[in-house]
Order: sequence, then C-alpha cells, then structure tokens
Amino acid sequence: MCRHLGWLGAPVSVSSLVLDPPQGLRVQSYAPRRQKHGLMNADGWGVGFFSDLPDPTPRRWRSPAPLWGDASFDSVAPVLRSHCVVAAVRSATVGMPLEASATAPFTDGQWLLSHNGIVDRAVLPLSANAESVCDSAVLAAAIFDRGLDALGDTIIEVGSTDPLARLNIMAANGSRLLATAWGDTLSILRRADGVVLASEPYDDDPDWEDIPDRHLVEVTGDQIVLTALNRSKGF
Ligand code: GLN
Repeated sequence: MCRHLGWLGAPVSVSSLVLDPPQGLRVQSYAPRRQKHGLMNADGWGVGFFSDLPDPTPRRWRSPAPLWGDASFDSVAPVLRSHCVVAAVRSATVGMPLEASATAPFTDGQWLLSHNGIVDRAVLPLSANAESVCDSAVLAAAIFDRGLDALGDTIIEVGSTDPLARLNIMAANGSRLLATAWGDTLSILRRADGVVLASEPYDDDPDWEDIPDRHLVEVTGDQIVLTALNRSKGF
C-alpha cells in the first residue's frame, strides 16, 4: 500500500528527500521496490512540512494526481526547505475516494500524519475531525483525538479489534518524528544531518536498517527510541 517518508534534522530541500533520491517517493510512485500490497502509488501524493518561521503551523501540498507528472511541484520543491517533513504517495484502497482530502499527510493543526495500510472503519470511533471518509483519514482523526503520546496503545488496540489491519503510521510535529511498523515495511537511515524514516530505502546506502514489525520508533533530536508493540499491552 502507500509509501511514506519522514525527516527530522537540519533544514534540507524537500526535493532532496522526495524527488532526487534514485529510489525516492517519486520513483516509488511508479516502481516501489518493497511494496507488498498494490503495484504502484498513482492515486495522489502529499508533502507536509514545518517551516522555520515563528508560525509553527504545518504546511501541506496534496494532489489526487500521480507525483511523477507534477511539473509544478518539481519546479518548487528544490526551494522548499524544512527540518521536519512527512511525505506520502498513495495507492488507494478499493472503495476509498480519490481526492486530495483523502491523501496523506493529514493534520490536526499541530501534527502531520500519514497512514500506510488498511483498516476497517467500523472499528474506529466516529470523529468530526476526519478530513475524508477514507479509512486513513478516519484513523488519523482517531489518533489525533486520543493524542500522539498514546500512538502505540492506539495502534495495539485498533490492531487487536481489526486483526487484518495494517497500521504503518508516520507522524511529526516539528520536534518529534514517530513511526510504527504494523503489517508493512519500515526502514531508518541515520544521517550526519538527521534521521529518515521511510516505507522503503530511497537509495542503496548500506546504512539503512529495517525496523522489525510491530514496533514504534520515536526520533527526538539525537535520540532514537524503538519500542515493541506488544499485543497484550494496554487493554
Ligand atoms: N487505505 C488508505 C487509502 O485508501 C491507504 C492506502 C495505502 O496504504 N495504500 O488511501
């Protein structure tokens, strides 16, 4: 299913994370290497980032069209610079709407959040804050409503109520980057200037490491904490 990426570190251009890498999200939109569900990610894309202005509001650029054909984004992305980015390319689940509002990253005004996977909306609480009826948007609203400090517990609970769910999350608020591996791939790259978390490596750098399934990763400054998501915990 979809592919996503998160960055926390020094300010870098959005294109250096999303467009330039040889196997970055632009290439993953038509030729992902590790995608287990779906063939390609042609159903839209979204990039969210925090600026270094005093205004902490995350900014988003989303589209329901394929990333590979977006000449305007290609033109602007080299001059968009950020220390904290969440980006995604989408392979829509059958029955979900094809629209920008169904495309990650979602936001509550403070956090950016992407969901890579599938979940039965019937197991999720109804929230007035969902941006779309898309399962990922409903899940994002449930996570926002509960708070990101409870992300691990929320994933465990939803995963137990819907055992077929795949719940890979990428979320950031400008100073924290969180990701879960629950049913799909997740990799981490520790660079000298920051940390990348991504559904799959964007190049063949040998420093990429795979995150084991059913784990939560939290990046804060120089600190990286890996926590097992134990099914029997929290309920
Ligand atoms: N279920 C979500 C959607 O339809 C995410 C799909 C995915 O991860 N491929 O957009």
